[in-house]
Amino acid sequence: MSRPTRAIVDLAAIHHNYQIAKRLAQPARAVAVVKANAYGHGAVPVARHLDNHVDAFGVACIEEAIELREAGITSPILLLEGVFEQSELALVDELRLWTVVHSSYQIDWISAMRPRRALNIWLKMDSGMHRLGLDPAGLRDVYEQLRALPHVAEIVTMSHLARADETQSTYTNRQLDCFEQHDVTAASARSVANSAGVLGWPRSHRDWVRPGIMLYGASPMDHAVPDADQLKPAMRFQSAIIGLREVAAGEPVGYGQRYTCDQARVIGTVAAGYGDGYPRHARNGTPVDVNGTRTQLIGRVSMDMLTVDLTHIANPKAGDPVELWGADISVNEVAQSSDTIAYQLFTGITRRVPIDYVDTQ
Ligand SMILES: *Cc1c(COP(=O)(O)O)cnc(C)c1O
Repeated sequence: MSRPTRAIVDLAAIHHNYQIAKRLAQPARAVAVVKANAYGHGAVPVARHLDNHVDAFGVACIEEAIELREAGITSPILLLEGVFEQSELALVDELRLWTVVHSSYQIDWISAMRPRRALNIWLKMDSGMHRLGLDPAGLRDVYEQLRALPHVAEIVTMSHLARADETQSTYTNRQLDCFEQHDVTAASARSVANSAGVLGWPRSHRDWVRPGIMLYGASPMDHAVPDADQLKPAMRFQSAIIGLREVAAGEPVGYGQRYTCDQARVIGTVAAGYGDGYPRHARNGTPVDVNGTRTQLIGRVSMDMLTVDLTHIANPKAGDPVELWGADISVNEVAQSSDTIAYQLFTGITRRVPIDYVDTQ
């Protein structure tokens, strides 16, 4: 017997979700974003499964790219924030990585390098998010400077959207206007859309999309959009009941007495807590599935355990399976009930949680 807490990751679901992104944005190509350990799903197994099926992978830093190359991944890999130090450029060349250029210091480093192979660059414009990217007004000059380098091959122009998850926001169109007005017509291709752009903003699709969260089956949109219904949740975060008790009306449950029984209740203890990545801020009432029936979290989440209401569940017993999120309990519901987002829940799954891979096709 071992602790029943695990994440089951369905690799076929991730492939399916990638294909949805491709179909929605066709004929655009798509970077499968696998940064942060594929949003907690395991970068190497996910990338191995997708390697022959994607146009490119996207990662946040060279360490993540090295991990993929060492695992035998042959698809192009884009460094979404480019390099952080000049010395990384030798590896960019050796490992055939594509690199974002968002700041002038990166241009200086690239100008100074003498790579064996010509470099593919994604030139990033700050179209209004004001986090990373070059000033739109100066983009043409920077482009010409890079274009003049003999060791630069393709230059893709790109930008990133700040509010594409908000279906009612006008800011996305303002950013797209900015991107289009200052675009460099000679660029070989263009890329703006993250998952929210793919799902909600056809105008953002252009030549390359960069889906992340949607690959893992969670919609980033603040409203239901029909295309998001086709996504399949890739992760089931599961555990089991390890203890049960009847608790009388008026008695508290767990740390700090955050929940007091309003009536006699059957309380189940589940072998998962914030030490596994379940959010400590989950409120009383956060949905949890026990043995196929929806019920609720009650009481404060502890490091290794949490408590649920089993009062209305028929014949509950130790060993009953629990889904914390997955196909029955949407990760977005848990996120909303914990004042966070699915991104944080996925990336917060800890080392203690074994990941089992399945391929349902
Ligand atoms: C993380 C990231 C993405 C993917 O964003 P999602 O919202 O997960 O789809 C796309 N582009 C860039 C530059 C990113 O850093």
